[in-house]
Amino acid sequence: MASSLFRRHWRAFAAAAGALVLIAASGEWAGRRELLSKTQALHQAASAHALGLRGLVEKHDFLPHAAARHPGVHALLRAPDNPGLRSRANDYFADLQATTGAAALYLIDRNGLTLASSNWNLPSSFVGQNYRQRAYFEDAIQGRRGFFYGLGLTTGQSGLFIAEPVREGSAILGVVVVKISLEALQATWMSGADPVVLRDSRGIVFLSAVPEWLFHSLDPVSAADARWVAEHGQYGSRAHFDVLPWTRKPLPGAQGYVLRAVVEGRKRELLALDTLLPALGWTLTVTSNMQEVVQARQSALMLATLAVALLTLGVLYWRLRDKRFEEQRAARLELERRVEERTRDLQEAHAFRKAMEDSLLVGMRARDPEGKIIYVNPALCAMVGYSAEELLGCRPPYPYWHPDDLEKQARESDDALRGRAAPHGFESRIRHKDGHDVITMVYAAPLVDAGGVHRGWMSSVVDITAQKQAEARQRDQELRLQRSARLASVGEMASTLAHELNQPLMALSNFAVAARALAAQGSPEILAGALDEIVGQSQRASEIVKRVRAFINPQRAQYESLAMAGVITHAKVLLELELQRQGASLRLVLEDGGATVRGDRVLLEQVLVNLVQNALQAMQDQPGQRRAIELACRRAGQVLHIGVADHGPGIPPEQREQVFAPFFTTKRDGLGLGLNICRTIVEAHGGFIGVEDRPGGGATFTFTLPIEP
Ligand code: ADP
Repeated sequence: MASSLFRRHWRAFAAAAGALVLIAASGEWAGRRELLSKTQALHQAASAHALGLRGLVEKHDFLPHAAARHPGVHALLRAPDNPGLRSRANDYFADLQATTGAAALYLIDRNGLTLASSNWNLPSSFVGQNYRQRAYFEDAIQGRRGFFYGLGLTTGQSGLFIAEPVREGSAILGVVVVKISLEALQATWMSGADPVVLRDSRGIVFLSAVPEWLFHSLDPVSAADARWVAEHGQYGSRAHFDVLPWTRKPLPGAQGYVLRAVVEGRKRELLALDTLLPALGWTLTVTSNMQEVVQARQSALMLATLAVALLTLGVLYWRLRDKRFEEQRAARLELERRVEERTRDLQEAHAFRKAMEDSLLVGMRARDPEGKIIYVNPALCAMVGYSAEELLGCRPPYPYWHPDDLEKQARESDDALRGRAAPHGFESRIRHKDGHDVITMVYAAPLVDAGGVHRGWMSSVVDITAQKQAEARQRDQELRLQRSARLASVGEMASTLAHELNQPLMALSNFAVAARALAAQGSPEILAGALDEIVGQSQRASEIVKRVRAFINPQRAQYESLAMAGVITHAKVLLELELQRQGASLRLVLEDGGATVRGDRVLLEQVLVNLVQNALQAMQDQPGQRRAIELACRRAGQVLHIGVADHGPGIPPEQREQVFAPFFTTKRDGLGLGLNICRTIVEAHGGFIGVEDRPGGGATFTFTLPIEP
């Protein structure tokens, strides 16, 4: 687990280790640098202190030398009891002391007895004191220069004693001694923040800024040395010297050492440097605060840590940036890929749409709300004969509008643009660019864009010319069929006709014979009656023939657009007289909604008149108040239903088909052609005719007519 973690992040671990090493190294480097500069400062301080010490010594060094040669000194040594000489010597020493600033100057005879002294007049006077055991005396009396630091036996004050033998020839008469106080020097050292220590040749501290260290030795003092020191009263009566409470640690590769000790009750770590003063045999130890080195190291460590942290942050930032760049690049690539995919999809969709549009037989045309053509497909272009470039941007009237239908086209176009186009489409005749007519069916639908905004209208245009032509052909064929059917029944009819005509013709012939006889008899009234009969019968025969002709050939009909309500109203006018005569009423119910049909006005009127006359005849035996006919015209979808209802006896079910057959009649003077002709006319108009019982008694003859589109 841990090792896999390491493997995954070994770079990070390596970088962290490197950073730690770098931080440690920079701390170490800064510490060393500070140490070096501190050591150099210590060297300078040591030199300065040594120089001060040497200067102090040198300043007084000549004094014993000069005094030892003074004649007054010699004279006193020769006559020690001479008060005058003693007094002069005392004055001499006092004068020298005052002039040079030495602590004291005095003269000792060969036995160690002090004969004269600069402090002769003070209570602490040396005069009369014996300094035989003093080391400096011992040296000087043996002809050597005495040099000694110690506590004064008389004053107890420390000082540096320099002794000079007083010679006369080879004999030594006595010793002149100068005592130099180091107190001023010690005061200077003590004023510094960092302790300064002076040790004698035995390692005993005799001058120290830290009072606790005084008279302690660096290393244990040997018994012989301790004895010597005590015997010579160097440090008073002290015969034992404790070891300094120091811990020293050498500094590898650097001069000096680290000194740990308690100073003024505070643990301190000091950088110490020992300097040997060869002329005096002393060792000067100067110190400096180690804390600054530690601080320099810590500062460097902090700085390096900060730098590493900044560097790490920088690296992290760059990596983050790189990562973000990489992510952005990936996102861009993904976007490009999607755009490419989308473009391909769009191209495919476009190609698909184009193929679909090109293969469409239905013409498509899009218009903006103002009627400007904004799109046409190839099928529409082919239908109208104009190219897309010619059509796009066109506004009504469009170039393909039929010149005869301009008004109608404008109305339909306007309706379509207002969203009022017939939901089932409308027929429209257009003029192809090459001049031929094209009949189309147009369906309009709103054009709504992806945002749901209404952008205009899309029309699909279907070429129904061929269909229309086929329909016309079919109608034509049907007419011909009907005609041939009728012709076929002519033969069948001919015999019936002969039979039918036989009766009026026989009557004619009988009446004519009677008329001739009556004319011969000269009876004009009876003749007139016979002739009236002849006229009536011949009219009847003529009527039969006329009806049969009309039945056989209804082609002379003139078709036009008719409002059925108008036809019905006119038929009522034609029937008015007869209705009055029969005392019957005719109620019109017109609920056709103003629909129009294509038909022949006269033929349709004839149908209505026929039906109403039949109704009147059927109600002849009814009481007056029941003689009420209702003529209703109602619309049902695309068809008109026209019904004539009476209160006659009705028609038994088995006769309901028969009544339409030619020459079927139940009337005495009936021809039986009325209903047959009615059916012929209705069917010629594309409708049907039938009969059913009327609720409440009576018959209802109903025929249909298709409403004009
Ligand atoms: P005609 O009126 O010369 O008889 P039609 O073809 O008009 O010839 O009528 C055929 C027959 O149908 C009539 O003779 C009659 O029997 C019957 N018919 C026609 N209309 C009615 C009617 N409204 N009510 C009852 N019977 C009728």
